[in-house]
Amino acid sequence: MAGLTLRNVEKSYGSVNVIEGLNLDVVDGEFLVLVGPSGCGKSTLLRMIAGLESITDGTIAIEDTIVNDLPASKRELAMVFQSYALYPHMSVRKNLAFGLQNMKLPKAEIDTRVAEVARVLQIEPLLDRKPRQLSGGQKQRVAIGRSIVREPKLFLFDEPLSNLDAELRVQMRVELASLYSKLGTTMIYVTHDQVEAMTMASRIVVLRKGEIEQVGTPQDLYTRPANLFVAGFIGSPKINMFAAKATKGGQGVHLCVADFVEFEIEGLERTVDDVTVCLRPEAFKIGGGSVQAEATIDLVEYLGSEILLHTRLASGQTVLLQTSGKDGFAKGQTLTFGFDPADVHVFDLNGDRVAFAGEEALV
Ligand code: ADP
Ligand code: MG
Repeated sequence: MAGLTLRNVEKSYGSVNVIEGLNLDVVDGEFLVLVGPSGCGKSTLLRMIAGLESITDGTIAIEDTIVNDLPASKRELAMVFQSYALYPHMSVRKNLAFGLQNMKLPKAEIDTRVAEVARVLQIEPLLDRKPRQLSGGQKQRVAIGRSIVREPKLFLFDEPLSNLDAELRVQMRVELASLYSKLGTTMIYVTHDQVEAMTMASRIVVLRKGEIEQVGTPQDLYTRPANLFVAGFIGSPKINMFAAKATKGGQGVHLCVADFVEFEIEGLERTVDDVTVCLRPEAFKIGGGSVQAEATIDLVEYLGSEILLHTRLASGQTVLLQTSGKDGFAKGQTLTFGFDPADVHVFDLNGDRVAFAGEEALV
């Protein structure tokens, strides 16, 4: 097990900066997920940690040792890719053993490790097959097995589940989470899928254009997004965003969101003018809430335990509501719904969160 420290890490290709002055502390034994849109620099960052890519500036340290100049093979890390990168001409057993043979371990030790990993990943019946005789999920399990046998200090995963179908992805997510709880090894896991990040991470790092937008537990990011980007990126179905005016008055700040009645919230740390007010789809109560509006239903998405209502206010602004699956709703129907001021997220003109007094500081 090992922790990892990144200090002012930069990467540029020619004049293009891909990673900009990035600082991050990965705690020993945590499951850290790097999430962000395609092209934001996740793979580049992971490859720099692995030693597969040089860094332009800054330092990377594993435990307390700076590894900038240490080749990948000496970093005691294991990386699992989206493409399984198995040796096609070797059996599963040989694929698993290959790295250990390179490490010149005794044969008995190799056999023991391979058998143990095959047991943990439930791939014992596949040991004598070639990769082409495996399904996508089985291949990915072998690829993960190949990294586990080496007993690395740190695992790096680059979108390992992206090639799998939806059902298998959910299953492998559970398997990876239980593998992590068994091994307790530090894991850094890259994905563009915020659901994967939310369900597996002990902490999430949200990256955008090579910069960190926020670091925190899944709950931190969901309940206190640091900015509009994180608010919009984390959470499914997506958060609703409304342009609003904020004016100081009475005990607190008056917020005026088109089509809703004006309301007051107390405890906002800053008074601001033009703001964005965000509300999660589940924050709305049909027929309830103290700040109400009327909307027409455009589309009903029935999900079983939940119903998503795509609605439209008189102004034309769309609002997504999530409600329990008990009531009947139909396209064209008009409904009154509302929210409570305590459930709003407020962002200033720069898109930064306007905190409530007493709210814990954000990264
Ligand atoms: P992600 O994994 O988040 O999708 P990447 O780390 O693969 O993103 O890429 C980040 C950015 O760096 C992209 O804009 C990509 O085009 C650029 N990039 C990656 N590798 C190279 C390279 N070898 N040369 C030039 N640009 C690159
Ligand atoms: Mg990538």
